Amino acid sequence: MAYTGHGHHIPGTPNTRQPKNPVACGGINHCLRCIKDVREYQEIMVQMDFDHVQKAKDLLRAYIDLGYFGSQEEWNQKPDYKVVVLWTSMVLDNWEVVARTTLLDKKIYKVSYNCATGKIAIDTYVLVRSDVLPKHEAGQ
Ligand SMILES: [Zn+2]
Repeated sequence: MAYTGHGHHIPGTPNTRQPKNPVACGGINHCLRCIKDVREYQEIMVQMDFDHVQKAKDLLRAYIDLGYFGSQEEWNQKPDYKVVVLWTSMVLDNWEVVARTTLLDKKIYKVSYNCATGKIAIDTYVLVRSDVLPKHEAGQ
C-alpha cells in the first residue's frame, strides 16, 4: 500500500489500511504535492523493476530465510549462504529468474513476475539427478 503525503492512494498499489483523514487538497489529480509524490513513487518502482535480478535474489533470500530458519534457534544457527542465479529471462514486462543457493539442499527456485496480475511467484524444485553424458551420446 502506498499513499501520498496527504494520505491519497497511489494508483497501482494495494489499497488497504487507507489513512483515516486524507487532506482535502484535491488528491492525485489536482494537488501539486500529491502529483509529485505519485511521480516519485512510480520512478522508484520503475528502477526496482529494471534490476529484476537483484529484486528476485532479495525476495528469494527472504523467502528461504523464513522457510528454513523460522525459529529463533534456527535463525541463530543459520549458515552463511549465497543465492546463485542460473538463468534469467524477460519478455515484455514479465520476468523469470532461476536460482539455487550454496546450501547443500539440491533445491532450485524459479522466481517469476507476471505483469498482468502484478504478482510474484516462487516455485521450488528439487534436483533428483544430474548426469554428464559422454560425447557420442550428446550427438557430437
Ligand atoms: Zn495533496
